[in-house]
Amino acid sequence: MKKKRLGKTELMVSVVGMGGIPIQRYDEKATLDTLIACQEVGINFIDSARAYSISEEYIGKGLKQLGRENFYLATKSMNRTKEGFYNDILTSLKNFQTDVIDLYQIHNLGKQEDFEKIFSEDGAYQAALQAQKEGKIKHIGVTAHIKEMAQQLIDTEKFSTLQFPFNAVENQGVELFQRAKELDMGVIAMKPLGGGILGEVAQNAIKFIVQNDLVTVAIPGMNTPEQVRECAEAAKQGSLSEAEQAELKKITEEIGKDFCRRCGYCMPCTVGIDIPGVMVFEGYIKRYGLSEWAKGRYETSAVKASACIHCGVCKQRCPYGLNIPERIAWVDHYFAQM
Ligand code: SF4
Ligand code: SF4
Repeated sequence: MKKKRLGKTELMVSVVGMGGIPIQRYDEKATLDTLIACQEVGINFIDSARAYSISEEYIGKGLKQLGRENFYLATKSMNRTKEGFYNDILTSLKNFQTDVIDLYQIHNLGKQEDFEKIFSEDGAYQAALQAQKEGKIKHIGVTAHIKEMAQQLIDTEKFSTLQFPFNAVENQGVELFQRAKELDMGVIAMKPLGGGILGEVAQNAIKFIVQNDLVTVAIPGMNTPEQVRECAEAAKQGSLSEAEQAELKKITEEIGKDFCRRCGYCMPCTVGIDIPGVMVFEGYIKRYGLSEWAKGRYETSAVKASACIHCGVCKQRCPYGLNIPERIAWVDHYFAQM
């Protein structure tokens, strides 16, 4: 697989990497099989997070068998304090069963108060610097979902990489990536399949990113060898043909921008509603004509959207500003009317 230089880190990473979110829902065997497939197709970049529960641990166990030296490891923590962030680095090292992590990122910076906090004397950035000095991590990166915040983070010139959403329906990052490139930062495209919404046209969605020179690596979530091979094939084919471009354009116009990326940042819900699980039904109803099937699935939910008490906690957490209580109420009402 083609490799690109991850900015000033000088790491030569595959243009498609393995996003470690979904493996937390599977097991060690699925992780190992996925990693083996990655090795076979030449994927050498893995991204995980402390927030992805067992993901780091499964990857660590897999790499024990496959050889840590064959992959670049990236992970991240949402801890904002020096002590908390440092402890998370130690936990990640233990989980990955390694002495050093190639890229450690401050995860999902969104609020201004968190920006101030991480750069304070007692903040996460100090912990990252200390761990870097001690040889526990090699490079420091950052991840964000909001353009203005990402811009502010780039402008600090304190990070080697930026991880930001980028896909055929969310291309607001292009300006940021241009600036990041000028500063020799590596650019990691998260949500290359729009949190699953582009899953039906996965290969074209991957090609769309790989052909963009501003992006270093796209990290679709992967948990099966088939997904790995599908992404690798797309990366190998390279640019989109005219017909593929037209097909992707048609789909992205239908989707628009106002959709749930299934990132889970809104969770946990105060009353236990599986918010991303309910939000996904919107697409099944509006786009795929699968209302009957979706209703059957919705009926097995442990807590229905009708249990929402409109506390607003989830809405504050959603980095995409979605009106979650209203949207899940619509889904519930739709199914009730059927
Ligand atoms: S507003 Fe409703 S869905 Fe959101 S956290 Fe509160 S109870 Fe849960
Ligand atoms: S509602 Fe918002 S925060 Fe929750 S999963 Fe969807 S995009 Fe993410």
